[in-house]
Order: sequence, then C-alpha cells, then structure tokens
Amino acid sequence: MSTPLVFKFGGASVKDAESVRNVAKIIRLFPHRPMVVIVSAMGKMTNAFEEVVGHWSTNDLALAREKIGTIHQFHFAIIEELFDDPNELLSEIQELIDQVQYGLEQTFLSYSEGYDYIVHHGELIATKIIAAYIGKETPTVWQDTRLLVHTDDQFRRATVRWEETARAIKSRINQSKVNVVQGFIGASTSGKPTTLGREGSDYTGAVFAYCLNADSLTIWKDVPGMLNGDPKIFQNTRKIDRLPFNEAIELAFYGASIIHPKTIQPLKKKGIPLHIKSFINPTAEGTTIGGVDRATPEVPNFILKKNQALLQLKTKDLAFIVEHHLSAIYQLFVDQGVVVNLMRNTATKAMFCINHDPFIVPSVLAELTDSFDLELVPEVELLTIRNYQKEDELRETKGLNILLEQRTPEVVQFVFNRF
Ligand code: ASP
Repeated sequence: MSTPLVFKFGGASVKDAESVRNVAKIIRLFPHRPMVVIVSAMGKMTNAFEEVVGHWSTNDLALAREKIGTIHQFHFAIIEELFDDPNELLSEIQELIDQVQYGLEQTFLSYSEGYDYIVHHGELIATKIIAAYIGKETPTVWQDTRLLVHTDDQFRRATVRWEETARAIKSRINQSKVNVVQGFIGASTSGKPTTLGREGSDYTGAVFAYCLNADSLTIWKDVPGMLNGDPKIFQNTRKIDRLPFNEAIELAFYGASIIHPKTIQPLKKKGIPLHIKSFINPTAEGTTIGGVDRATPEVPNFILKKNQALLQLKTKDLAFIVEHHLSAIYQLFVDQGVVVNLMRNTATKAMFCINHDPFIVPSVLAELTDSFDLELVPEVELLTIRNYQKEDELRETKGLNILLEQRTPEVVQFVFNRF
C-alpha cells in the first residue's frame, strides 16, 4: 500500500470559482496516488453559518432563512461558473441547504449541538463542489468525514477518538483516487455531527496524516510559507525555510497564527514533516516543519497578540501573594475559560495578561472583587520576541507605553498600550 499524499486547503484557497480551478491545477501537479485532500468551508462561509446560528439561537428564524439564502446564492454562483451542466450538483447542494433549513426547526440538547449541526454544512457543501470539479479530470471520490473522524460529544470542541478514527480512515480511504474530505468536522459515537474548534481543519490534516502514516502533510496557504512575523504588522519579515517541531509548538503557543497549536503534536509523535506552501506559487519551496534540530535561517520571531487586558490583583490586607491565592485564581480562570498569556507576581500583587473576552472577563472580576483589590487595564497588546537581539527589541518597542516586561535568555515579552 503506497502512502498517500495529504493536502489541506483552507477557506482562502477555495474562496471563488477561480481559486477552485487553481486547487485542481495544484492537484494535477502531483499524479501520485492515493491522495487525501482536506478542504474547509469556502471563503468566509463558516462566519456566515455562524450568523445563521446567531439568528437561530435568538429565534429570529426569518433572518436565519435570509442568511441561508445568501449562502445558497454564493455557492450556486460558483457552481454556475465552474460547470457546463451543473444540474446534478445543484440539486445535491440544494439538499444540503434544505438540511440546514430543517435544522432550524429541530430541538437540540444544547446551543453547541445546534451550532455544530448548522455550521458543519459549510465543509460538506465546499467538498461536494471541489470533488465534482477535480473529478472532471482526475479520478476522485467524495468522502464523508463524519464516517472517518470519530469524536466525543463535546460539541464545538470535540476531541478525536484516535483508535476508531485510525481504523475508519485506513479502511475507507480509496487507494487509487483523490479522496476529498471535509476538514474541521467529525461525528460523535451516536452519529451526531461535531466540530473541532474554529480553524480546526489544519488539525484534521494532521489527523489524516497520522492515521495513514503519511510521508508528509502539506498545508496550502496564501503566504509563501511561515514568516518570522506577520507581514501586516512587522516590517522586513523573512521566510523560515526549516523549523524544528518544538520551535513550531512554541511559536504557536505565543500566538503565531499560521499554525494551529494542536496540529503539530500528532505530526511530531510520528515524525511526519509539515510543509507550508503557497497556493499562488505552488512550485516554490515554502517552509518545512520537523526533521531538523535548528531553524534555518536562525532569525528572531515576532508575535503580536491584540485584544488583551492586564489584570492586576492586590491582596486587601497587603498580605503576601502566596500559593493558595494563585491556586484559587487559576481555578477560577480554568472554570470560566480565561486564557492567560503572561503572569507575574510580586510580594502583594499578581498580574495577568489575559485574552480580553467581553463575555467572560466581567463575571470573573465580579468573583474576584471580594478577595482582592482589582485593576483592569483594557486594550493592551502583548508583543513576544523569540531569539531576540537588543536592536530588535529597541526597534519594536519604540514609542510603546510598556506596562509589564518579562524576559528569559530566549524570549522577551512586553505588555503595552499605545499613547
Ligand atoms: N471552516 C472552519 C473555520 O473557518 C475551519 C477551518 O477553516 O479551519 O474555522
């Protein structure tokens, strides 16, 4: 049995008819079979489905139907552009759209169960269109990820059940064709659709690569590879050619958004390299993660997290902040889902740089206010520089109002706001 090529195409790579043609072109560059092609919802369709969920959850069904109408039109227009004789495909897509409409009338056990039912249709529709288009020239089979990726029933953030998943994937992947599968989704033991968390289809790529013992996983992006900073934020960014798994995990931890943190772990376990390549320039080198001990080139990495808040807690009686305070604070954070990105304590003060979630933070503050004097600085940002040099630090922090700084030999972090 030959090992399959595993490719993942995200929403930006399948956002319109032209980009679907481009995906088919890339696939034709690789006559190797079998191949597994993981696809996300087209363009911004997951956001559009989330709007449907929003209207459904507030019982504004007319607005939900209107939004489904927009989603319907978006896909139909792409199909009309791609196919001379689209009728069969149009009726398949119509069926999926009908299923979404039907979902609005159903009773679900929870908001999250309803969310997964509605939202996972984005990937189903995208893959139907893409499989049909690739199939015009290349032997292709559409596969239902709900029969392949088995999960628990934690809707919206389901956990993969690896043994069943590996068994299903190994037995169902067609060895002589291009298998088009949905990213991001799975199904619970009772067969209900689940999702793995937003941006989860890179992780689906890793799940397939792991279960099939693939030689590599390739994620196709709209950037030339992994850069040492987001070019929209930092100047003179450079492409990283090779990066060890551990460094990739660290960068994902600090917030490098190009890789989903969970994606690296299964690949690292089996030593399967991850290629990040440009779908605009598919024959260019890209970035390879794994299989090396050091990055090339060895450059500093810049990561900026916005939408942060700096929470400062002081004991009311000026008692020292000790372990039991910290343990109670962290327990509350875990229970409420507060994400801590940096922490520092002094004798009587604990400071946390946290994601500023407007739903969670106020209730956390309400719980803490009896035991501590609180100060919350909203609208701060967190800059992390890994492998820093003095000049990088000076350049990037110029003009910032730094509220907190933390440093190890490899990493320096600044919590700041702008004047
Ligand atoms: N379509 C899903 C999302 O937009 C999953 C993904 O694209 O990775 O979050």
